[in-house]
Order: sequence, then structure tokens, then C-alpha cells
Amino acid sequence: MAKKQFKTESKRLLDLMINSVYTNKEIFLRELISNASDALDKLHFKLLTDNSAASSGNLEIRIVPDKENRTLSIIDNGIGMTQDELETNLGTIAKSGTLAFRSAMQKKTEGEEASEDENAPAANELEVIGQFGVGFYSAFMVADKITVLSRAYGSNEANIWESTGLDGYTVSPAEKADGCGTVITLHLKANGEEERFDRYLETYTLRELIKKYSDYIRYPIKMMVEETRMKEHECECECEHDHEDGECDCEHKEPEYETVTEEQTLNSMVPLWRRNKAELTDEDYNGFYTDKFHDYEEPLAHIHSCTEGGVTYNSILFIPASAPYNYFSKNYKRGLQLYSNGVMIMESCEDLLPEYFGFVKGLVDSSDISLNISREMLQQSRQLRAIASGLKKKIKAELEKMLEFDREKYEKFFKAFGLSLKYGIYESYGMEAENLKDLLLYKSAKEDKLVTLKEYAARLMENQTEIYYACGESEEMIKALPQYKYLIGKGYDVLLMTENVDEFMLRMLNGYDGKPFKSITDNDINIQDEDEKKALEQKQTEHAELLEAVKTALDGRVKEVRLSARLSDSPAALTSEGPLSLEMEKVLAEMPMGGGAKAERVLELNPDHPVFEALSRVKDDEAMLASYAGILYGQAQLLAGLKLDDPTKFAESLNALLVK
Ligand code: ADP
Repeated sequence: MAKKQFKTESKRLLDLMINSVYTNKEIFLRELISNASDALDKLHFKLLTDNSAASSGNLEIRIVPDKENRTLSIIDNGIGMTQDELETNLGTIAKSGTLAFRSAMQKKTEGEEASEDENAPAANELEVIGQFGVGFYSAFMVADKITVLSRAYGSNEANIWESTGLDGYTVSPAEKADGCGTVITLHLKANGEEERFDRYLETYTLRELIKKYSDYIRYPIKMMVEETRMKEHECECECEHDHEDGECDCEHKEPEYETVTEEQTLNSMVPLWRRNKAELTDEDYNGFYTDKFHDYEEPLAHIHSCTEGGVTYNSILFIPASAPYNYFSKNYKRGLQLYSNGVMIMESCEDLLPEYFGFVKGLVDSSDISLNISREMLQQSRQLRAIASGLKKKIKAELEKMLEFDREKYEKFFKAFGLSLKYGIYESYGMEAENLKDLLLYKSAKEDKLVTLKEYAARLMENQTEIYYACGESEEMIKALPQYKYLIGKGYDVLLMTENVDEFMLRMLNGYDGKPFKSITDNDINIQDEDEKKALEQKQTEHAELLEAVKTALDGRVKEVRLSARLSDSPAALTSEGPLSLEMEKVLAEMPMGGGAKAERVLELNPDHPVFEALSRVKDDEAMLASYAGILYGQAQLLAGLKLDDPTKFAESLNALLVK
């Protein structure tokens, strides 16, 4: 039969597995068992939602070592795969973790020089295998031939997939009499000098590995186990000793031994969340997370809690280390797994998490939620609301703890998900502000690091009554603002805000700690320097006529032209008045439904700049004044990160000056 080729992207991974010198090859078993468990989950779920009469009570995984043939089989009676599914699932990289593995590998290798021996896996490849679950293909680390016999639920036909590695695979019809499910058979590699692959046929090894990696799998993992035991016998003597313990030395009968072969369940099946916290290590949690939620990075934190009271539930929540690529898109599916008494009833229950904590992964198991509850009923359920509100508090408390005790980790968290918190404040119209404001971080200009609002507020200058912030596309753009230089020069700290939502969100926060937020470009910024204010007012009156003339020359483009003492070494700057700032105008302009709302522009001029003098000199020459005003307005627009209204005219005015 013609062999089909693996998809190219899979080949590299496969090659890596086949030639792996990774010492921890044993993880293949964990990967296959976890796939089997997923297949059982899927069938269980299907039976539940189909309202099928078929029982899902006998779902199980069996491990069958065959020493004679040097094969190890992993068998499940789960959902199975159709012919098409065998092809697509096993011919291509499927696993999200595996895909991530591949891109991580690519990133790693791009930055590095090619190794001398092209075939040798680089050390970092090995390091990465350990961190990632690499799914089905990991079996090629220990086997040189793999067959997958599968029959899909609801089908009478079975198929067998077979591959000896890189040269491709075949899929052909086969017989499978005992119902749906999958039998994966690994033909173990020959023992090498250092590696004994036949150890994966030993009861002892298999038992150890299952305990180590798959203990909490909630389906029984069964295996035929040979055991030698003392034979039970009836002793006729009347002494009260326990003969089985060999305690009796009266000479009645020698103990006899027998070897029995019986099927044993090797995993305890107690789900992790039902186990005692004190017995669990970070490794247990992290392994559970990466395995169950298909992430290749360990989470930043886990929250395991058993809550009793109004509603009783167990929960394990995880805070991932990075945002999934689609986190900020509509495609991202937020939600927690919901279990009723250990049985999964919903894969992703949205109502358990507020949208702004949508990055949290995990599960909730409650005996107070009925197994057969419908989605509609669930949404109405008082229990569910109580759980959701409990979880929200726990997540917040965990983040606060991280912020206080592990700042570095928190900053990593905030980089990944801070935007989500900001949207939480904005989209709730400030209802969640109290809840979230202390979790925000902003770059402090003065300290050149991220600070909380509380930290900023605690370090105000004497007499400072406002919290200063500046918005812009980048820190560089902000630092080029004339007003920025002025404030920093005076010793004030400024929070740098570079995300679109920032200023909109601030509008929803009613100040912090009684101090209003003030953009550094705001005209009425309250810097307590009475002398300066007075001097400025005086100049303003003095030059009233000129300012009016500039405004007229700008022909309705600005609401006002006024003097400012906050422009440091720039002759002009643009600010706004009213509820909409220039930054907000820019953000709205980018949005499809933005509607093109405009900020009310105010042109500020620096009376101490030589350019102002030059402007005064042309006061009576209408054409010149218009040209100067246009140039000043244009450069103020550019500094504010705005586009010129009329670039041609701007260039012409400049050129006219150059040839003068
Ligand atoms: P992942 O399990 O993360 O998706 P794998 O490469 O391990 O990645 O498996 C690829 C796909 O093959 C799985 O998503 C699943 O659809 C299918 N599969 C693997 N093992 C089984 C099994 N025992 N029963 C049914 N489907 C399976």
C-alpha cells in the first residue's frame, strides 16, 4: 500500500523524537494516557449530551505489556477515530502545546549558529522536550513502529494506522470487535548500550510511571499484574494466632505461596483538586496545568481552595504566564471547567469568571450543582453566582499577594494581562474600579520603573494635589512633549501611558485617593507657583491682540490661542479643552465606529521663546502672520503625534522662510 507522507511541519518534530537523546523518554506514557483520557472524556460528554441510554460507567484505560513480542499497548474505550481523523490527527501536528513547541524551537534556532553536526539535536531541543508535552509523537522516542487501531463511536468500521517513522504512514481498514476506542501499540526499540527500552514492559516500571504522572486521571488505568501471595489455608489447630502473619510457631502447616494474575487499577483516580493541599507540590500543580490546559509554560500561580458554607466547592485556578495569541480577540474562549461531584458537566463555563479575569484557567467541582442542569438553568443558578463571586475574590487576593511579595512575577503577569484589567475598569463604566485600581501598574518617569497608583500617590511632591500622567504612542513621543520636559524639570513625577484604553479608563476612575488625574497637557494643571501664574496672566493681557490675530489666522482650527509657561524650550504646543483629549481623538479615529469625534484644540505659545518675538514683529503683516501661525500650529501638531492638516501649505511656508 502506498505510504502517505507526514506534513512537513510534523516531520521535524518526528525526526527530533526518533533521534532523541533526551533522558526522560518515559514521558511518552503520560502523553498517551492523557490522550486516552481525553478520548474517554469526549465519549463521556457525548453520552451525556446525547442523552444516550448507553452507560459510560465502564470507561477505562488498559495497559498491556507483551514481553514476547516486545510491544506495549495503551488501550481505551473512548471516542475513537474515523479513518479521516486518523489521517489528520496523526499525520499533522495537532497539539497546541506541540505547535508552541515548534515555534519556540524555531525562535531558539534562529538566533543561534548552526551546530557543527547537523543531525545532533541541540541541547536546547532537549530542554524544550522536557518542558512541553509533545503529544502522540513522543512515543517515537521509545518505539520504532507504532500502530493505532481505532473505531470511532457510532461506527461499525475500524481502521489501523501504522508508521515506522519518517518514511510516512499507512491507514487501512481493520477489524475491531470490542466496540469503539483506540489501541495504540508500540513496538519498542532494541535496547541500546545505555538504554533499555524493554524496561517499559516491566510491571514495576509501568506502575511507577503511572503513579508518578497519571495518578489523578479519573478513569481507571488497569493492567494485568502477576503477584506472588501466601495461599490462604484453613488451619485446624485451635491456637488463636494469626497464621497468615507467620506469628504462630506451632507446627501445623508450612505457609504456601501461589502466583496469581489479576487485573489491578494502578492509579488512585482521586482528582488533584480533591486531594489534600498539604500533600501536593508545586510540581504536581504545574504538571496538572500544562497537561490539562495544554500550555507549555508553567503557570505563574495556582489557587487551590476548598470552600464550604453557602455553597460547597473545590477549585483549582491557574494564572498563566503569557497571553494566548488570540486572548484579546473575539475568538478567545474564556471559562472554567465545571464538574459536579467529580464529573465534568461543562468544558468551559463563562459565567464563573468576570471578563477581565478571563485569562484564568482552571476548574470548579461542586456537589451543589446538579449533574443534569441545563445551560439555561445554570446561568440562573444562585449557586453558580455565589461560586463566581467567591472565585473573583480569590483571584484578586492572589494577584495582590503576588504584587506585594513577588514584584517581578507580578510585572510579568501585568505585561501579559494588564490590558485586560484596564478594559475591566473601562467597560464596567468604573463599577469595577474599586476592585481593580490597585492592580494597575504604570511606568513612572522619575523612577523609570513600573509603579502602582498607590506608590505614586505616596510620593507626591509637597503641595502636589494631582496625579500627573501623559498619554502617547510611545514613551519617546511622550518624552518629546514640551510640557513633559517642564514638569520633570520641576521635579514632578509623570505616569507614562501608552495604551489606547489608558485615558478612556482614567475617565472612569474617579481620581485616586482623593487626587484627580491630570494630563500634563491640560491647561488648568495645578502647579502651585503663584508668581509664575501672575506673570503669565500679565503677559497674556499684554499680548491679547496678537493671540487673537493668530487665532483668526488659523481660521477656526483652534478654539483658543494662549500663552503658556510650561513649554520649556519649544515655541508652541497643542493641547485640548473639554472631555476629549487629543490622544482620545486619535484612538477613536482608528476605531471603525469611532465617529470622528474631535478634541477642541488649544494652541499654546511660549512667550519666552525667540520665535514669539519674531511672531510679534510680523503682527501687522497679515500674510506673514498667517504663514508663521501655520508653521507653529503645524509643528505643534507633529509634536503631538498628529498629522498635518495641509502638508503642502506647511512645506510652502517653510520654504518661503528658507529663501528669505
Ligand atoms: P493533542 O492530544 O494535544 O491534541 P496529540 O499529537 O497527542 O495532540 O494527538 C493528536 C490528536 O489525535 C488528538 O488531538 C486526538 O484528536 C487524537 N488522538 C490521539 N490519541 C487518541 C486516542 N487515544 N483516542 C482518540 N483520539 C486520539
